[in-house]
Amino acid sequence: MSTPRRIVIAGGGTAGWMAAAAMARTLGRAVTVTLVESDAIGTIGVGESTIPPIITFNRLLGINEAEFMAATQATFKLGIQFDGWKGPEDRYFHSFGLTGKDHWAAGFQHFWLDGLRRGHDAPYDDYCLELIAAREGRFAHLPDERMNYAYQLDSTLYGRFLRRMAEGDGVTRIEGRIAEVALNPDSGDIAALVLDDGRRIEGDLFLDCTGFRALLIDRALHVGFDDWSHYLPCDAAVAVQTESVRPPVPYTRAIAHEAGWQWRIPLQHRAGNGIVYCSRYMDHDAARERLLSTVEGQVLTEPNMLRFQTGARRKQWHRNCIAVGLSGGFLEPLESTSIHLIQRAILRLIRLLPGGPISPHDVAEFNDQQMTDMLQIRDFLILHYKIHERRDSAFWRQCADMEVPDSLAHRIALFRETGRVFRRNDELFAENSWVQVMMGQGIKPESHHPITARLSDEELDRLLTTLRQNIATTVRSLPPHADYVAHHCGTA
Ligand code: FAD
Repeated sequence: MSTPRRIVIAGGGTAGWMAAAAMARTLGRAVTVTLVESDAIGTIGVGESTIPPIITFNRLLGINEAEFMAATQATFKLGIQFDGWKGPEDRYFHSFGLTGKDHWAAGFQHFWLDGLRRGHDAPYDDYCLELIAAREGRFAHLPDERMNYAYQLDSTLYGRFLRRMAEGDGVTRIEGRIAEVALNPDSGDIAALVLDDGRRIEGDLFLDCTGFRALLIDRALHVGFDDWSHYLPCDAAVAVQTESVRPPVPYTRAIAHEAGWQWRIPLQHRAGNGIVYCSRYMDHDAARERLLSTVEGQVLTEPNMLRFQTGARRKQWHRNCIAVGLSGGFLEPLESTSIHLIQRAILRLIRLLPGGPISPHDVAEFNDQQMTDMLQIRDFLILHYKIHERRDSAFWRQCADMEVPDSLAHRIALFRETGRVFRRNDELFAENSWVQVMMGQGIKPESHHPITARLSDEELDRLLTTLRQNIATTVRSLPPHADYVAHHCGTA
């Protein structure tokens, strides 16, 4: 294998342009970056809701937030509101940030649970700044980055924004359809992408960003696929864009229905909507009808029909090819983790970029880390389908009855019995996320950590009351989210 100096990116969706922009900006002249994309094929056109680590990615690239938000019509996101997941009439928030104040031995939920026992009745939600701000529709940047947030953005515009940056940094863009992936007959590595007009794009390292087509990693290199649809059974979606009928709220909505769920993502100029469903329990016409009859405002686009299979490629890096984005697998959009996995793959690749010939140890390390991320996120997603009180449709009954991975079953049992949950190996979703979702989906822990007994009634009362009051006071001081966005982007 030769030293990878020429990086070729196949595909110009969110994955392709994030990779191109990041590699050109961070690696500079150490590499040349060429991106091939087909205007005729286009991109998947969905993927609007993100999670907080995107801020790190944008900062690493030196992106100015106000410019980025204006260019992508972005709004701020403080979490996801889950409607109808625990039961058809229930609602909860999974918000970013922390709830209450952790003690080194016991998370805040233990103190809150003991408070309930001692007569406090304020909901757990009241102790999370981001959650209350989201519910009140308020937002501002706070000193010391006290407000943990992400964005809701137009992914097509994000792609264009990154393309401008990447081309400015020297990335070469080639428009054309890849007709063939040529392999080196001796090594089995990818030698070149051959376009349908005969052009040949040679490279040392190839990033497969061709989306679900997975032209390089799957069709050319056949790495195999782990199917996770027995855990994550939704396999289809319909998406439409609608006009905005109200000021954008700083959160995404995930609204459960009898065979899956629907998203609503408010941007500055429009809203993104989609229905995700399991085709065993709902057909396309019913899904489309349900979506169109429940969206708010005039529909601006033709319904975009998408089929997918949840799961992951067995190897994300094989030979001189790395899958980035949907080509590497898909976990379903419920917790907005796909763009995050793209970001993780790109930054991981930059860290492991070979200085000489590709080392099998680098490849193994990359595959292990990327798969660990996916498995951890997979468990968190399965939790939403497994734990609930819905028995009103065959879909939800099937989900409630499914076997889940041992790692998740253990986590659920531990929390149910003791209120304890632990973040493992720096996983994406920390304790706060697990507690909010487990309690939101209906688990009420049977006990709590005994250390809370160290606090007298007065001390516990002071702790709980002060925390709530501070959050309520801070939230009251925040401007309405829509005003803040307009001011921040210079459109007020
Ligand atoms: P694509 O956008 O499909 O891009 C593929 C690229 O490859 C295109 O440029 C295409 O032209 C090119 N290409 C393909 N074949 C060829 C060829 N033969 N020759 C030349 N070029 C070719 N993610 C989130 O983080 N948040 C969300 O809220 C979210 N919602 C989603 C909802 C649904 C229903 C689905 C299915 C996904 C969602 N995702 C979400 C995932 C998100 O859409 C993707 O992770 C993201 O758009 C990246 O896609 P991609 O770049 O891998 O693929």
